[in-house]
Amino acid sequence: MKQFIVVGLGRFGLSVAKTLAENDYNVLAIDSNGERVQEIANEVTHAVEADATDEEALRTLGVRNFDVAVISIGDNIHANILSTLILKELGVPYVVVKAQDALHGKVLSKVGADRVVYPERDMGVRIAHNLISSNVLDYIEFAPDYSVIEIIATPNMLGNTLAELKLRSQFNINVMAIKRGEELNITPGANDKVLEGDVLVVMGKNDDLDKLKHY
Ligand code: ADP
Repeated sequence: MKQFIVVGLGRFGLSVAKTLAENDYNVLAIDSNGERVQEIANEVTHAVEADATDEEALRTLGVRNFDVAVISIGDNIHANILSTLILKELGVPYVVVKAQDALHGKVLSKVGADRVVYPERDMGVRIAHNLISSNVLDYIEFAPDYSVIEIIATPNMLGNTLAELKLRSQFNINVMAIKRGEELNITPGANDKVLEGDVLVVMGKNDDLDKLKHY
């Protein structure tokens, strides 16, 4: 089972740490602010007050025995970059870091971050997509030009099977799942019908998905 370190227990780090712990993963939570550490102490395996820019402190905590570190020091870019560098140098195989903007992200990649995330930017994009198209419930960017969306079945789809709708050949998109109330069909086939209120989970190129929204 993977072992996780979460550095910086602001809103983002706290929610990452809690979710991992709720899913029974071992989590070492680190923050330089003792109150933040206390807040989460009962919910994770270990919660420690430490400065994540202090190499010796991190080494003593045995960080190299962990598989993944999530760094979510927010405003202090200097500390965020330095702790990324140190955790990589100490041998943490996979380090995910929250970045403020693209330039910050570039620096993080240069010092060894394996993945850079932009939670505010990504959430903004998702919410905007959701507001623009009232039938799009959720939106996840999968690769620069590709996304997965959850879309409420449009009137033209209703009563037709996936074969009849020819979504693949018409729009070049793939229906990955169909949600009907509580039921989730994760292997939708040609003969599955789309009914009113169904939610389709669809993957495709953004341009193609845009066409589908207006189908
Ligand atoms: P968010 O935007 O996710 O709420 P914040 O910037 O509010 O993030 O929180 C970042 C957290 O990182 C704070 O709890 C802060 O105490 C912690 N932090 C800042 N610098 C360090 C450091 N050098 N070592 C460990 N934790 C730090």
